Amino acid sequence: MTRAVVFDLFETLVDYDEETSWAFSSAAAELLGRDPQAFHALWREGRSVRDSGPMLPYLASIGLDDGDAERLLEFRRRFSLAVLRSPREGVLETLEELRRRGIPIGLITVCSEDVVEVWAETPFAGMFGSEVFSCSCGYVKPDARLYLQACEELGVEPVDALYVGDGSNDELAGAERVGMRPVLVHRPGREPAWPEVRDWPGPRITSIADVLSFV
Ligand SMILES: [Mg+2]
Repeated sequence: MTRAVVFDLFETLVDYDEETSWAFSSAAAELLGRDPQAFHALWREGRSVRDSGPMLPYLASIGLDDGDAERLLEFRRRFSLAVLRSPREGVLETLEELRRRGIPIGLITVCSEDVVEVWAETPFAGMFGSEVFSCSCGYVKPDARLYLQACEELGVEPVDALYVGDGSNDELAGAERVGMRPVLVHRPGREPAWPEVRDWPGPRITSIADVLSFV
């Protein structure tokens, strides 16, 4: 029985693909006067550091002085806010419907500090009974502690919770390992974005509204 649903954020509730990632890197490189390709590679390399801790020490570690770090952070916050203000079709309605049915909903996202900083200005603010941000926890998916924290905050056992995500960071296997029931979401008419879930044997959906058929 499904007593709660926990969602991933990027490429699940909002779009964030390679194109988006490149759009950020190239604009950030221009802002800093750096080479776009080189900056993109550097930025990708630092992902796990950014997503598991504070941003300023990371920015210092890649050679940004205080002024550049602040400029980049401000740009990053605006960029993230624009992404988060464009939920996928049917997402907000589905979250509302789950709440209406009395199903607690949670969020676990691997993200950097800027997401937490702008969260209150997004349409997702106040929607979730549990919000687990990797950068605030200090560890990333598929660390079991993230899933267990969400379930505990929602007041459900993992076996009674559905986990919905696009499969990045090995998140579906991670959810399964703690006893949750993972559901793969991918874009309609496309293969899942991540090779490790192309042959995902469990349930898969191409629209978030389809989550309602599991509750
Ligand atoms: Mg994702």
